[in-house]
Amino acid sequence: MKQYQICTRCIMDTSDPEITFDENGVCNHCHNFDVNIKPTWRPDETGKEMLEKIVEKIKRESQKNEYEAIIGLSGGVDSSYLAYVAVKQLGLRVLPVHIDGGWNSEIAVRNIENVCKSLGLDLHTYVVDWDEMNDLQAAFVRSGLANLDVPQDHAFYAGVYKFAADNNIRYVLSGSNWATEGILPPAWGYMAKDRRHLEGVHERFGKMKLKTFPRISMLERKLYYPYIKGIKVVTVLDYMPYNKQDAMKVLETLGWRYYGGKHFESRFTKFFQAYYLPTKFGYDKRRAHLSSLVVSGQMTREQALAEMETEQYQPDELREDREYVLRKLDMSEEEFEAILKAPNRTFRDYPSSHEYLEVFRKIRSFFRKFM
Ligand SMILES: [Zn+2]
Repeated sequence: MKQYQICTRCIMDTSDPEITFDENGVCNHCHNFDVNIKPTWRPDETGKEMLEKIVEKIKRESQKNEYEAIIGLSGGVDSSYLAYVAVKQLGLRVLPVHIDGGWNSEIAVRNIENVCKSLGLDLHTYVVDWDEMNDLQAAFVRSGLANLDVPQDHAFYAGVYKFAADNNIRYVLSGSNWATEGILPPAWGYMAKDRRHLEGVHERFGKMKLKTFPRISMLERKLYYPYIKGIKVVTVLDYMPYNKQDAMKVLETLGWRYYGGKHFESRFTKFFQAYYLPTKFGYDKRRAHLSSLVVSGQMTREQALAEMETEQYQPDELREDREYVLRKLDMSEEEFEAILKAPNRTFRDYPSSHEYLEVFRKIRSFFRKFM
């Protein structure tokens, strides 16, 4: 067992099994942020100019379209604020697309309605087939993997791309951002974008056939959508100063309300992040999220440490959510208890496109040297 250590700059610690520290006790995530992320993160004048050029291009290329871009709207801080920026600051004609995976909290539903109404936006909602979603999620719970949000996230991602392609909309605005998501240890969970992984886990633990569940393969993601369909994803919030607290204040003027934690707009995600992951794996995603806010200068290390001391669940609420989640997944208490005690798995125990992606990454970095 490694000795406990916590970064002297952010609050990442040895609960990330792959963490390393330099001689000053600064972790690899902080260094990765400085070396690989900071150069692409532009919360300054250059970002503003770059974004202006991108917006001009979007407008020029989408003149004939009813909508210039779509936004995947979850009702969370990032996507809601993105909708606000797109309309009020960039003057874009955007269509929010909401992929309903069946786990929206009541607050999330109201947030989506209020944001769209206040900004005068239409809303397209795609409802994922609940039986298929349920079967996939139960399969992931049974797999013993750390990332149980793969089915939800995959459906959101694939659904938005598919909608853009079907409707000839070439721009997808994404709320992903370095300012609040710069740190996330790969060891804490494999990515959701890998269709092979999604289907591999489902084949092993699922009970029904997937028919309509939105899926996206590596080839579609890397080649078909970007090069054949010409769809571009723009991470708008990386081109401006993005401060979570300030964003929430703006959103409250639109009738939006906070739901108590990153990605807690989904009741499943709250249970998974605030209970399953810390209990079974000892991973607390707040640590990564708060570390991101520390390295991007939105919070001090001391504030982040204090925040870690707060409880994410009151006992009654945890009992309620646990019952709710298990009932929805049609899983007994006994089975779930056994899953919590069973050995932890990693994506390497199941099919995935990880190896191909590594090759792809190497080829790309090889060519980049000559460009
Ligand atoms: Zn660090």
